Amino acid sequence: MHHNGATRVVMLGTGTPKPDPDRSGPATAIVVNETPYLIDFGPGVIRRAAAAYAKGVTAFGAGAANLETAFLTHLHSDHTMGYPDLIFTPWLMGRREPLAVYGPKGLKAMTDNILKAWEIDLAVRTVGGHARPPCRVDAHEIAPGVIYRDANITVTAFPVHHGDDLEAYGFRIETPDRTIVISGDTSPTQSLLDHCGGCDVLIHEAYPLSTFRTASPAWQEFRRTHHTSSKELADIANAVQPGLLVIYHHSNAGGGPLSADTEDVLLAEIRESYKGRVVGGHDLDIF
Ligand SMILES: [Zn+2]
Ligand SMILES: [Zn+2]
Repeated sequence: MHHNGATRVVMLGTGTPKPDPDRSGPATAIVVNETPYLIDFGPGVIRRAAAAYAKGVTAFGAGAANLETAFLTHLHSDHTMGYPDLIFTPWLMGRREPLAVYGPKGLKAMTDNILKAWEIDLAVRTVGGHARPPCRVDAHEIAPGVIYRDANITVTAFPVHHGDDLEAYGFRIETPDRTIVISGDTSPTQSLLDHCGGCDVLIHEAYPLSTFRTASPAWQEFRRTHHTSSKELADIANAVQPGLLVIYHHSNAGGGPLSADTEDVLLAEIRESYKGRVVGGHDLDIF
């Protein structure tokens, strides 16, 4: 059991673009001193935060109204389709501080465009007898290095490699009692290794080699250049020696969009060459 001040990692979404009803889009919360910090906001994020609240993670607040700080690894839709939900739902439920969001170039335009897309709703909800204060979002576009610091948390962004055409980051998160590294979406990169020193929890994406071998050459090439295989992740974990390795965003190349989850296969592949603690993360798991 953790006492209230201890850092907790709450898996809010462990999925991929596949609309798996058991796995929301990528979203991870770090809770420190009853303050939640969000990393990525895939579809379903606020429903999952509400579910975690119902399970006793009171830090999210009723209606997820305490979600005020978020970090974004990259602008892919599976990581950002919960953004309007993150902007509007906690605000409707009582968030009064501006939402602060930190992410790659393009985040400001995405933010402005979402506020524009919902302008009729925003207009009617901020006038008349039931008027709310304006819905405010402060979007910050980041570069590698320390991007955020407060009494609870220091967040360092490091570049990862998710194909050649997209700005993408992983994050190293240091709290008073734990160091957590989250990969975002990436193929193996030296920069991740460079930022994993003393890591208590490494949250990393991966795909299994079993289905990779059955995929088309083009699909295999996409996987190689955008994501990390089970074998590559085992090598990373052997180099980094995290206290705990948590697998998330495990895609199933070659398995088809409706095929079964391959978590057991993936974990078995990793354990062939990595003997440390490794688990498959599921939505609402707490580490
Ligand atoms: Zn993704
Ligand atoms: Zn991606």
